[in-house]
Amino acid sequence: MITEKKTRLIEVVLNRPLWQSFTYSLPLELDGGKLVGCRVAVPFGTHRLIGYVWGYTTADKTNTLEVKDVLGRLDANPLLTGSVLELTRWAADYYQAPPGMMMAAAHPPGISGKAERVVTLTGKIDPEHPFSAFLPAGKSIPVKLLRDSMSSTCPLERELSVLEKSGVLRTIWKPVSGPKPVMERIVEAAATDSALTRRADAMKRTAPRQAEILLYLATCEGPVTRRQLIRTTGATVSSLSGLIKKGIVKESYRRRYRESLIRSDIEKEKDIPVLSEAQEYALGVITKSLDRNEVFLIHGVTGSGKTEVYLRVISDVISKGRTALVLVPEISLTPLTVSRFSRRFPGLVTVLHSGMTAGERLDSWNLAKLGERRIVVGPRSAVFAPLPDLGIIVVDEEHDSSYKQNELPRYNSRDVAVVRGRMERIPVILGSASPSMESYGNANSGRYRLLELDSRIDGIPMPSTILIDEGSMHHPLISDELLKGIGRRTAKGEQSIVLINRRGFSPTQMCRNCGHREECPNCGITLTYHRKGQVLRCHYCNHWKAAMIRCPQCGFDEFAHMGPGIQKVEEYLRKLLPETRIIRMDADTTRGKDAHWDILSRFAQGEGDVLLGTQMVAKGHDFPGVTLVGVISADMGLAFPDFRAAERTFQLILQVAGRAGRGKIPGEVIIQTHSLKNPLIKAAANHDFADFWKRESGVRKMFGYPPYGYLVRFVWSGLDKGRVHKAANASVQGISRNDGSISDVLEAAFPRINRRWRWSVIAKSPSRKTLARISREVRKRFESAFHKGVRLEIDVDPYHLL
Ligand code: ADP
Ligand code: ZN
Repeated sequence: MITEKKTRLIEVVLNRPLWQSFTYSLPLELDGGKLVGCRVAVPFGTHRLIGYVWGYTTADKTNTLEVKDVLGRLDANPLLTGSVLELTRWAADYYQAPPGMMMAAAHPPGISGKAERVVTLTGKIDPEHPFSAFLPAGKSIPVKLLRDSMSSTCPLERELSVLEKSGVLRTIWKPVSGPKPVMERIVEAAATDSALTRRADAMKRTAPRQAEILLYLATCEGPVTRRQLIRTTGATVSSLSGLIKKGIVKESYRRRYRESLIRSDIEKEKDIPVLSEAQEYALGVITKSLDRNEVFLIHGVTGSGKTEVYLRVISDVISKGRTALVLVPEISLTPLTVSRFSRRFPGLVTVLHSGMTAGERLDSWNLAKLGERRIVVGPRSAVFAPLPDLGIIVVDEEHDSSYKQNELPRYNSRDVAVVRGRMERIPVILGSASPSMESYGNANSGRYRLLELDSRIDGIPMPSTILIDEGSMHHPLISDELLKGIGRRTAKGEQSIVLINRRGFSPTQMCRNCGHREECPNCGITLTYHRKGQVLRCHYCNHWKAAMIRCPQCGFDEFAHMGPGIQKVEEYLRKLLPETRIIRMDADTTRGKDAHWDILSRFAQGEGDVLLGTQMVAKGHDFPGVTLVGVISADMGLAFPDFRAAERTFQLILQVAGRAGRGKIPGEVIIQTHSLKNPLIKAAANHDFADFWKRESGVRKMFGYPPYGYLVRFVWSGLDKGRVHKAANASVQGISRNDGSISDVLEAAFPRINRRWRWSVIAKSPSRKTLARISREVRKRFESAFHKGVRLEIDVDPYHLL
């Protein structure tokens, strides 16, 4: 390092699964202004990456032989506003997340990652200059391209710097990113589904990527875009072209609409209603404390008009010149909520959503930052939206598990929202008909203020419920009561919703002779049978194979398809009620862009009599025509070895039941279950949250689970079972346990996912501080020894313990 050149040392974090930061030196000309939080381009191994400045340092912490220079600075000021930057740093620390990944999560996608240097013409270049032919006016080209086009004797860097000084051109570092699509390509199969699967199976060894494509087309319903196909199958364009050449697959074009996200055909136009007494009271309480931080939990039964309260509060906030943030579960499943906001506040709302392109999201993000849009509605990641002068945060359906990110960086957006409210000194509203144990616990202890809306709008009664014993039905899956109920509704022009929370046709395909079932070689779990395309699929790692035609064990050719799955229910319903129009909604029918919206709006417009679906149909939909809700195998989720199984099952039943009878005609709910006497199912059937809370909180208290204690989960994984086990043991050995408990090192409930063996440890304590200390120690121990091929993931406040 040249000492007389005055440079500063800085710490940079990268969008990689790494906890540590890296030291670089900052050339003088890049210094100045607010530096922390800015993006910089840095050399990293053989790559050029874009990272975020985390802080200053005096000594090189990386211990590399030589501190490298920052190549370029991308921002004059950090893109994140001061408070969001602080929030992001808090989240990285609290969730023990890789800080660069946390920073990337708080930014719009596509603006970090790999870096490239581009050159743009800014003045007139001598037409004789060797560069001139390669520099089109108004366009940027990568410097690398220029270098490749010049002879190797050309002093490229010197020329660039001379021309830059004289104002002819400018070079900058920017992320390597693709163009924004306007048209999109549609891919279709030119053969029947099962023929595709057979063909795919035959090609599996020789052309695995092409096989993936064929399988995808065979099992997916509706049109598939090329982008989506390649993204989900991981196949390349050339393998697709190969299939097109062979004539198995066809391609065509379709227009892509940028604004397709806010659609209003889900619900009819309504006047702004006069508030009910309960709504008025809640509104009054909240608007009185708009100038300070307080967290409100609105516990309102389904159809009690929670959304209207949010809208009124926001209207108040907006009229004071401030901005508002609304978090919703996956947007594609809650189009109704989204459209209600954009309708009430035309021109003020922008939506952030994972289905948008990177360019679209960047646009929305910037509009919010500039104050051009004053309300942001978005899922999980929108909690970091750069709204200036934020006045309120709303978290709708706060119990929804989609607020918890299930991969790195693992944060819970609802909880980050609460912290953001505290940092910005503004109120936060959490709302749900079935609040999470955590939030209700906080309301009970007085940390949150509870507001109850305990009846439906306009005196509409809660639906009546009957429970049916699945053990004593005539039909294996559909009770007479449900069947008659649907038939009666259809005849009267009313609608029904049927929930069965399992994808596929049935959990297993079993040989009728020897009982053989096919298992996933990566995970050791029985493969799920999908009738469409005749495929067996692992729901954990996506491994698949063609369904058995002959049993590989005994050669027999008859099979039983055991257990319920949504495709089987669909088949039965179509057979038993041939006149009824059924619309199915699950992960397999909603893969296309906008597929969720299409299904929901078709059903809203009466194009179907029955909406049959997985948990997707339990979200906050409001279909006044629905008078019957049926739940098949309501106890299915209870068997999961997870302390949240009861809570999840209760929420699911309560939510789906809440879809019934929201219009003029009273609703009915039919719940089929094998555990008729289960108090939890009974509580859900009676819409009795208080009873559920009493029971479940007793259990949680006894075992120190949330909200009476906190958890951190550590999972070590890798291909070599012994090595993973050893790393896990070494990481927790000798950790002091005062006021916290650490479980033994145990195989995870799913001991092997995607070929990786998994060992886990759960730490539990009533003190978050203790858990943070334990996590840091585990991390330090893990990092201090080299465990080849072993990964450690830390999950703070975990949602799943599988
Ligand atoms: P929740 O979110 O609590 O389930 P919604 O906000 O969806 O309830 O409200 C249920 C229905 O009642 C919606 O159609 C909504 O437009 C309507 N609604 C809400 N408040 C009122 C009111 N004060 N008067 C009349 N209708 C209302
Ligand atoms: Zn698997």
